[in-house]
Amino acid sequence: MKEIIAVLLIALFYSCGTSTGPFIVNEGLLIENVSIIASDENGEVKNHKGFILIDNAKIIYSGKEKPNVKGSFKTVNGNGKYAIPGLIDSHVHLNNIAGINFRQRKSHALLVQEYFERLPKNFLYFGYTTLIDVDNYAPNTIKTLKNAPIRPEIYTCGKKVQVMDDFEMVMNEEPQNERYKLPFLHDKYNENVKYPDSIHLEEHSVASLISGIALEDNICVKTLYEDASSGFKQVWEVPTVKIMQDLVAEAHAEELLVVMHATSYEGQKFAVETNIDIIAHAMWNWTAHPEEFLNTNLPETHKKLLLEISNKHIGYQPTFRVILAEKDILDYTFKDAPILKSLYTPSYVDWLQSEEAQWGRNIILARPKFLEKMNPHFFNPIRSQFSSDEEMFEELYKSYELKIQKVVRLLAENNANLLFGTDNGAMNMYTHPPGYNGYLEMQHWFDAGVPLEQIFKAATYNNAKAFGLIGSIGTLGIGKTANILILNLNPLETLEAYNDIQFVLINGKLIERKKLTAPYDDVN
Ligand SMILES: [Zn+2]
Repeated sequence: MKEIIAVLLIALFYSCGTSTGPFIVNEGLLIENVSIIASDENGEVKNHKGFILIDNAKIIYSGKEKPNVKGSFKTVNGNGKYAIPGLIDSHVHLNNIAGINFRQRKSHALLVQEYFERLPKNFLYFGYTTLIDVDNYAPNTIKTLKNAPIRPEIYTCGKKVQVMDDFEMVMNEEPQNERYKLPFLHDKYNENVKYPDSIHLEEHSVASLISGIALEDNICVKTLYEDASSGFKQVWEVPTVKIMQDLVAEAHAEELLVVMHATSYEGQKFAVETNIDIIAHAMWNWTAHPEEFLNTNLPETHKKLLLEISNKHIGYQPTFRVILAEKDILDYTFKDAPILKSLYTPSYVDWLQSEEAQWGRNIILARPKFLEKMNPHFFNPIRSQFSSDEEMFEELYKSYELKIQKVVRLLAENNANLLFGTDNGAMNMYTHPPGYNGYLEMQHWFDAGVPLEQIFKAATYNNAKAFGLIGSIGTLGIGKTANILILNLNPLETLEAYNDIQFVLINGKLIERKKLTAPYDDVN
């Protein structure tokens, strides 16, 4: 007991930053005279000049005084530079490929391989040292990525929990007998759904699903809510409040967080009612009434709900990229962006120029026809306001962007628990290049009026705290994993700082940023 108290006292002493050693290190790294920008343990962003000492992948000292270091160590001159915690993207889909859809994978196996080989470095190149895959539907891909010699840390939610006959099962046109084979959730409070006798419903209970997810080394559970305001005719089942409350309670008992995909007012109201921890996506669907669909005046009801989300400190991932990556793909110049040559192999860059790779754009262009057929009651009143599909798309994306901006600005002004996530890989569209997509997402936050300090916090402290990872990442405190970025510019002054990285430290390993690019792969 006495020893424990002594250890605690020493830890307290070190964390005050008053001790300067001597530190005896065997594989140390000392970052000298650097501007240290990080949240303290209470989440307050601090900025001061000082020293960071790393040994064995951990931060062992961080403070204003130069520490007395003995043993084997390297030094980095941080003069004029900024040290920040590595960035966290808390919403990615690592098995999705930015540019190759699931049908194309077999016939382009080499490109698929090249893509996945580049993926970890691409995230690191833009400073993402931690990724959270919210729907681990392909555990083998995650396993392979975890074997990469240089990679971000990866955490996962389990495979997404779907209730029988929900939005995705219906929209994916999954045949009924195939649906029964999925690990679906049986909503025992919903009597609309009938099951054949051969189905063992106890295998599809809340308890059974959650214990499976907990066993697989996940930190969270993802689920979803979609309603008619998505523009589709609602022919699917939505979960009942009771089953979702059961799911959340069971997940919490297993120390798992619950992330809910909810893009609408109704969905986010449902998320609040059911004690969801983290809402995925901004509220971009405001109404199921077509005549109100393009109206961008935030209704009072919605404001009230967003304030409640702020006050309750519910995690909130705006994910502008889901919508704006679609807008980018229509624009048709994204595939020519010079940055892609740093991220991908030459053959992958060539692929993006091919006719075959334009499938994502073609899907969006075909959407009016699809909606007209599927839900004319909703679609026609909107389409009739425009003389062409092009004009409609332009106005539609403009109104989506404006809606998300208004929602996110209101949340930021009320100090909501904003969490930085990109939905990287959404729909496999090529306008989500790993890493670079995060830089674009940040620009969207900035354009919406979110202050730089809040963007910084959302991508570091808030994400770490919300996902239960603050013990090891999210700040530069003593004992944290040495995931650190050395920037040439101050991220509290300019967003460009996130694209002007000199070094990335991952688990204490110092990597020059340019060595993470695709052209450099051949040098090694
Ligand atoms: Zn997602």
